[in-house]
Amino acid sequence: MLDGPSWPIKSDTVERGSVVVLDIILLGPPGAGKGTQAQRLVENRGMVQLSTGDMLRAAVKAGTPVGLKAKAVMEAGELVSDAIVSALIGEHLDGSQGKGAIFDGFPRTQHQAEALELLLGDRGRHVSHVIELDVDEEALVERITGRFTCATCGAPYHDRLKQPKVQDTCDQCGEHEFKRRPDDNEQTVRTRMAEYRAKTAPILPFYEERGLVSRVDGMASVEQVAAQIDAILDKRT
Ligand SMILES: [Zn+2]
Repeated sequence: MLDGPSWPIKSDTVERGSVVVLDIILLGPPGAGKGTQAQRLVENRGMVQLSTGDMLRAAVKAGTPVGLKAKAVMEAGELVSDAIVSALIGEHLDGSQGKGAIFDGFPRTQHQAEALELLLGDRGRHVSHVIELDVDEEALVERITGRFTCATCGAPYHDRLKQPKVQDTCDQCGEHEFKRRPDDNEQTVRTRMAEYRAKTAPILPFYEERGLVSRVDGMASVEQVAAQIDAILDKRT
């Protein structure tokens, strides 16, 4: 056996072009780059991102049967039930046949994880991978609290990682005003990390028991994280 990389080694790569429908759960705290990686999977692999919040908003707006139910519940100030969310996911799975799904925001409990197994199982599918973007909290605090953008064109900068080439002057547009998001502060980052851990803690054991959980270094570059995710997904299990 080889020692070394902590992610699976590509031993039996799925050929390009062959149709492999992978249903995955992508986990990571805010700031870990989950959105960027999900977007890449959507573009490169034709997967669909099933984000619970987005799906609910869209269903309510479109006035679908599930959306109307959800709207009534939310207007009554109650939480949308697992049954409604499951119905919503079912609709989206049926509407995106032949495409793998990236689940985002669901499951959050063991009960929901079991519901998802049934939803997928009814369609001859299953969760093939749970990938967690692992971050070091201290490094994340530094990464997020240091970021700022050009107030004019939005070009991203960072106190330590990427200063403008000429001080106080945007590389892209030459303007001199910059802005910081008020929630890019240490307390917010730590609160979000704690919320994230609380949300994922209930489902990780469920998937760990099934041997489905992989972790990638979410502090690495976007390209390196992407390569690690590809290595995991392309390893035939
Ligand atoms: Zn600019």
